[in-house]
Amino acid sequence: MTRNSHFDWDPVTGDDAAIGAALEHASAPVLMASLVHLTGDPGLLRGDIQVNMGGARDLQCGIPPEHQAKVRRMALDALKDYRESGCPAPPPLDSGSLREVLRFLTARDLPDDYVRFLMEESEFESDDAYGLEGLDSIPRSSREAFHVVIVGAGMSGLLAGHRLREAGIAFTIVERSMEVGGTWLDNAYPGCRVDNPSHVFEYSFARHAWPQYYCSQPVLLDYFRSFATTAGLRPHIRFGHEVEGADFDDGTWTVRIRDANGRREELRANALICATGQLNQPRLPDIEGLGDFDGPAFHSARWDASADLSGRRVAVIGTGASAMQLVPEVADSAAEVIVFQRTPPWIFPCPTYREDVPSGEQWLFDHVPYYARWYHFLLFWLDGEGLYASVTKDPEWPHQERSVSRANEALRDHMIDSIRRETGGDRELAEALVPDYPPCGKRLLVDDGTWYRTLTRDDVRLVTDPIERITRHGVRTGNGVEHEVDVIVLATGFHATRFLWPMTITVGGERDIREHWGDDPRAYLGIVVPGYPNLFCLYGPNTNIVITGSTIFFSECGMHYVLDCIRLLLENGHRSLECRKDVHDAYNEIIDEGNLQVAWGAPNVRSWYKNSSGRVTQNWPFKLLEYWTRTKSARPGDFHFA
Ligand code: NAP
Repeated sequence: MTRNSHFDWDPVTGDDAAIGAALEHASAPVLMASLVHLTGDPGLLRGDIQVNMGGARDLQCGIPPEHQAKVRRMALDALKDYRESGCPAPPPLDSGSLREVLRFLTARDLPDDYVRFLMEESEFESDDAYGLEGLDSIPRSSREAFHVVIVGAGMSGLLAGHRLREAGIAFTIVERSMEVGGTWLDNAYPGCRVDNPSHVFEYSFARHAWPQYYCSQPVLLDYFRSFATTAGLRPHIRFGHEVEGADFDDGTWTVRIRDANGRREELRANALICATGQLNQPRLPDIEGLGDFDGPAFHSARWDASADLSGRRVAVIGTGASAMQLVPEVADSAAEVIVFQRTPPWIFPCPTYREDVPSGEQWLFDHVPYYARWYHFLLFWLDGEGLYASVTKDPEWPHQERSVSRANEALRDHMIDSIRRETGGDRELAEALVPDYPPCGKRLLVDDGTWYRTLTRDDVRLVTDPIERITRHGVRTGNGVEHEVDVIVLATGFHATRFLWPMTITVGGERDIREHWGDDPRAYLGIVVPGYPNLFCLYGPNTNIVITGSTIFFSECGMHYVLDCIRLLLENGHRSLECRKDVHDAYNEIIDEGNLQVAWGAPNVRSWYKNSSGRVTQNWPFKLLEYWTRTKSARPGDFHFA
């Protein structure tokens, strides 16, 4: 079930035992926040029960079990009273009490701008954290006459369509596939699931009752599919059409599209939104002999469902996020799996990674006033803030090769402990799994230990010798050993720096953006590019994340900004707007400097976040607040108008 907000909870009708059983699943700090609403007494937060931010993503926030039990008892009493009195909606908290709840949950006094951000994001101060008001004062006819073409019907493209529809602006979404979902449609390999908590990986305006803490690909695909239907977006989507290119001339984009039969067509648009994502071009490894293999060989994002792996010998090349998810599933049916590792990933232990949300906890989301809201808030806070201190570089720290600060070293120790624990005493294996670069240098994976335990299976082998070539029968490594297999899975990632590839995006027939960027894509706020009027990117350059938040957050902020740009155009009767180069350049200097101060900018990290000259082209280096603030409104002074 998808709800528009977390404020429409159901009345409490269950008996005391049922309520008590549900409360066993509660996060004690979140329950404390709900108790303030139920009782109207913020004084509850001033007692001996206090949060103690020990580990990241710990939803009990270090509250010891005896205190958790006390919170549950208080909650049971309060919920009984609430039920007996007919479940009247608790009055909203005054701002002082809200701040007190915030201080309790974060264990710190936050600056005003941070409070405003968190309160708005969690919809305590606004019904729609990322929507834009003010467009409705522009005549409907002007809005309807403004046509936007959106490339891609994945997470960002659907979001863009939804927001434009709300704003009464005409739009067409062009989608290569025959269905929506983007990356969640493409990545259908066994075991695929989101590695952000599901309760923050959702649109702010379509909160969902997620069945798993970290939802699997079919659940997520269903979410986006049903959203496209209920939001009325499907009639606006040209399925099975690929955008070949677009040219901006005389204030208009001409977008060239082609269907699967090669039939071409042109669409005209006032603005072009590219919502093609960062990870849609599978990268095949540059390993000699790839074409020589006799059996099936396919990329993880082009999973060959017809290839039956049961009883087969399977090679998996790569040990990134995709491999970590698919290897355990493949191992369950294959005769043998050989995993070829070039660089091990850092993996943060997360016990709930493969768990379903118990019905008791779902009951709390649905029935306890404000519980779902504060749960979202706490996850957002822990995810956004929790690990940030552990990734910031301390120039005085002496062990820069393996960690960037004392906190980063502590994170490293924590994860090495989990490697040793899960590999059950196999010291050689454990050693091979410890990365030699700082934690969070690459995307920090999360797992419940399944990956490490899978590598200890008798029918799974980890090979760390470098691959020399692919042969007709398997994979030959540098030590001369030929590993014979029946199937090869290439979990080798994506051409991430190829933003907007393979489209040809030009202005006046010139300056193809792919040549302009090369492998160094840059945009102001990841959204607008000097020289390319009325072109907007969502999830563009330097808006990816390593540890904090979710990509949906960035796309929602980005789309809010795009709408504000469109407002500037319509309000002032301009035909086009183009980001100023000096604004763009100054911004990118700040981004580059920021990325040098965090673990993923460390010189000894080689990753798809960096281009051939070592510049981080993909990632946002700062806290979420910074992006939210910068995209809150489009400043006219940042643009040239025509
Ligand atoms: P990836 O993180 O880029 O991993 C690719 C793997 O292939 C790495 O281990 C890489 O080794 C290895 N590799 C590449 N070329 C190779 C070669 N020639 N020889 C040997 N090994 C080679 O790709 P991914 O796992 O598909 O993940 C990409 C991104 O997608 C993730 O970072 C994440 O953002 C996203 N993702 C998310 C989820 C999720 O939310 N659940 C799931 C999957 C993916 P090196 O490290 O040495 O380059």
